[in-house]
Amino acid sequence: MGLCQSLCCGSFRKSHSLEIPVSSSPDSAPPRYPPLQTSSSRSQNPSYSETGTILLKPYVDITTLYDLDKELGRGQFGITYLCTEKATKRRYACKSISRRKLITDKDVEDVRREISILQHLTGQPNIVEFKGAYEDRRNVHLVMELCSGGELFDRIIAKGSYSERQASSICRQIVNVVHACHFMGVMHRDLKPENFLMVSKDENSPIKATDFGLSVFIEEGRMYKDLVGSAYYVAPEVLQRKYGKEIDVWSAGVILYILLSGVPPFWGETEKEIFKAVSEGNLDLESQPWPSISDAAKDLIRKMLARDPRKRITAAQALEHPWMKEGGDASDKPIDCAVHSRLKQFRVMNKLKKLALKVIAENLSSEEEIRGLKQMFNNIDTDGSGTITLEELGVGLARLGSKLTEPEIKQLMDAADVDKNGSIDYIEFVTATMHRHRLEREDNIYRAFQFFDKDSSGFITRDELRQAMTQYGMGDEATIDEVIEDVDTDKDGRINYEEFVAMMKRGTQDGDGI
Ligand code: ADP
Ligand code: MG
Repeated sequence: MGLCQSLCCGSFRKSHSLEIPVSSSPDSAPPRYPPLQTSSSRSQNPSYSETGTILLKPYVDITTLYDLDKELGRGQFGITYLCTEKATKRRYACKSISRRKLITDKDVEDVRREISILQHLTGQPNIVEFKGAYEDRRNVHLVMELCSGGELFDRIIAKGSYSERQASSICRQIVNVVHACHFMGVMHRDLKPENFLMVSKDENSPIKATDFGLSVFIEEGRMYKDLVGSAYYVAPEVLQRKYGKEIDVWSAGVILYILLSGVPPFWGETEKEIFKAVSEGNLDLESQPWPSISDAAKDLIRKMLARDPRKRITAAQALEHPWMKEGGDASDKPIDCAVHSRLKQFRVMNKLKKLALKVIAENLSSEEEIRGLKQMFNNIDTDGSGTITLEELGVGLARLGSKLTEPEIKQLMDAADVDKNGSIDYIEFVTATMHRHRLEREDNIYRAFQFFDKDSSGFITRDELRQAMTQYGMGDEATIDEVIEDVDTDKDGRINYEEFVAMMKRGTQDGDGI
């Protein structure tokens, strides 16, 4: 059989209405926006003041920010274009999803989820960097890092199979993605070579996961039933409609099998036959070329393709497997994991902003991204005490790839520990690690403003500030002076909504980390 023929089988997505998770709609009570006192283009161009129904942010005409160029690829909902940011001349990829195609509530939810998962995971190695999400009358645009080396799939086709060394390096990156997803509370559900792109044309180019269209935030203890994924890569328990995050390790195991042998482990002429092969699960590690492949590689494949998900190796364990480490770049350069860079960013924020973020975090507890953060919190809080200690934070960040010294960890700890009780509780964790793109949602910022502006006068007065900050043990006059000095740009001694928005959005633009 030809490899292309054997692999060319698209994703399938068969959902059943009963099985779709019901998530609360964030826009059930539209916020009352105060008038934005600005003389900029907003007031001259009425279309800018309208809010998009998908992203819940004001419409943005993407062509004012980017030049859209040739098409890079297309999928079920969207077309991905090469684009150039006008201001910097930097090149990115822009996935444009036609709003016309988003018919059902579920379609809208799926797009929102894809965007929020990419925002949540960005900053991790081997995951494409998120740049921005924009909505206009026709489309939703997701702008991200450009991967110009093409799909891993095409490289496999061109090459047939890989040396063990190369396969190990690719597999390590794929399992890295699985580990990062699981650690951060996300199940990918559609791992396959088509969804990994090469950053450059270089033979040893790193690979990045780009497509989170079928991913979900993991709910603790929940068994998933949706039949999703692509036939060759689908785990047997998916076919039985009762599965959890272990399915990603299975799919990565299938990719590894293909990398080493050039053919998929479970094969059939039709989707039905493939499913049958997956369910029967005869794993052939004997015929050609397997005799010439190392025992260590076969051992890892067996462990990743263990039929019982409870006995399957985890992503974290797979990364420790001797075959994955062998000859690899085990001495990885220190990297900032997403949690690390967000904590660092949080550290330098002014206190009013920290407090405002806390108010936002407290209001967001039902949203999906927050569920991902909850999962992450539980993963770091290894003793399940409900608080993260200094030691747990150090271990957690190391597991995500950051190499930090004790004083550095202490600094991050102090930053997140808003109430200064020596440990990080759940809300503090969410506050400090929540993605900065949350702040693009004006309803979030407005809600925080209202929290401070007790009498709804449109201004946060010194008294109101004192009152709110005292609640959190930071109401001393010096701190209040510092905040007002920093935020009150028109120097009238109080903070209006415009100043508040400017403060919240400050430092959330590009070039300042995650
Ligand atoms: P879908 O969810 O519809 O499958 P994808 O996100 O997989 O969409 O994108 C479709 C195609 O667009 C990809 O297979 C790839 O060829 C191209 N593409 C997507 N993201 C990028 C990117 N960041 N850089 C370069 N090409 C990309
Ligand atoms: Mg895809």
